[in-house]
Amino acid sequence: MVNEKNALDHLMTLLAVPGLSGREGKVAKEIQRRLKSVGVKPSWMMIDRANKKIPGDFEIGNLIVKLPGTLKGPRILFASHMDTVPLTRGAVPTIRGRRIVPKGPTALGGDNRTAVACLVTLAETLLKHKIPHPPLTLLFTVGEEIGLWGARYVTRKDLGNPTMGFNYDSGDPALIEIGAIGAHRWEVGIQGIASHAGVHPDHGVSAILIASQAIAEIKAKGYFGKIRKNGKAGTSNIGVIQGGEATNEVTGKVFLKGESRSHDPKFLDEITDTIEACFHRAANRVKNHKKKTGKVKWSVAKDYNSFKMDRNEACVQIACTAAKRLGYQPRCAVIDGGLDANYLNAHGIPTVTLGAGQHHPHTLDEYVNLKEYYDGCRLALEICKERAG
Ligand SMILES: [Zn+2]
Repeated sequence: MVNEKNALDHLMTLLAVPGLSGREGKVAKEIQRRLKSVGVKPSWMMIDRANKKIPGDFEIGNLIVKLPGTLKGPRILFASHMDTVPLTRGAVPTIRGRRIVPKGPTALGGDNRTAVACLVTLAETLLKHKIPHPPLTLLFTVGEEIGLWGARYVTRKDLGNPTMGFNYDSGDPALIEIGAIGAHRWEVGIQGIASHAGVHPDHGVSAILIASQAIAEIKAKGYFGKIRKNGKAGTSNIGVIQGGEATNEVTGKVFLKGESRSHDPKFLDEITDTIEACFHRAANRVKNHKKKTGKVKWSVAKDYNSFKMDRNEACVQIACTAAKRLGYQPRCAVIDGGLDANYLNAHGIPTVTLGAGQHHPHTLDEYVNLKEYYDGCRLALEICKERAG
C-alpha cells in the first residue's frame, strides 16, 4: 500500500533541504507543505515553543502534527528529528543502484531525513487509503544532534498525551532499540599563573602542566577511553583542549571539554566525579616558588539519563510483531548513543527506536538503503494496523 515512488520523492526532496541544529525552519516548511498536499489539515499542525527554552539560537520549536483517529483508542506517537550534523553541509543526494549516496565529499543526512520522510509517507498512506487508525501524533524535533533539545522540552500535553511512542532514528528495520546510554558533557577551565618562561619560570603555575598531570592520572586510574571496573562499563573522552599563546610564557589558562557515558547512572556519576577529582588534585600539586597553586573551574551538563525498557512493554511487543509481519526477525538492543527516546521515556511515554534505512551516519560514507527505507515506511503502517486490532 506504500507508494514507493512518492516515498522516494519525499525522501529525495527532504534530503536536499539544509537543516543543521537550530536551523530546522526550512525542513519544517517542506514537511508541512508535503503533509498538506496529502490531506493533513493546517489546523492539525503546530510548532511548539521549545526553542524559547533551548539555550542558543533556534529558529523554531518542534513540529507537532495530530491526526484525529478514525478509531477510538489511546493516542500513539511517531517521532523523528529534523536536524542534521554539520558534515551534511552542501549535501546533494543522488541515487546509485538501490542506495542514495551523497554526490560530493559530505555526509548525506539520511540521519534523520529517512525518518522524517517515513512519517510523511505514513500520513499519506493512511489518508489516501482511508486506513482505520487510532489518534496519531507525528513529532518532528529540533536540535537532536547537539543534545536532544527538542525532545527534552516538548510537553506531553502538546503531544496529546500519547500512551506509547515509536521513534525512527536508525537503519535496520529488524532492530528494535529498547534502551540507550546516558551521557554527561563537562568543561574545565584551568587557571594557572602566567610568568616569563625564561626569566622567572618558577614564578609561574603552568595550566598546561596541570592539565597534563590530570589527564595522565585519569588514564592511570583507568577512566580514560573505554572504562571497565568491577563489571561496570562506560566511556570517557577529552575532545577539546585549548590554551597558550607563546613559548616564552608559562601558560596561565587552558580550557578543556570532554564527555562521559554509561548505561549505569551511578557508574556514570562515578566516571565524571573521578575525572573532576583528578583535575582538582593536579591543580593542588603544581605550585610556584611561593607555593601558590592554580585553580579549576568545573562544570558538567547531565545530558540525558540512560533507559532500558522491558521486552514485555506494549510498544516493544507491537514493534516486534509488525517487523515479523514484514518478514524480519526482530532483535531488541540497547545502544551506546543518545536518542530522542531517552527524553520521551523520561516524559513517561514508553518509546522504542526503529530503523528506516540510514547507515554510517555522521560520516562521508553515509548512505540510505532503499529497500530498508520502504520497509521502514511499511513498518509504521503495520504498527498502526496492529494498534487498530
Ligand atoms: Zn539521528
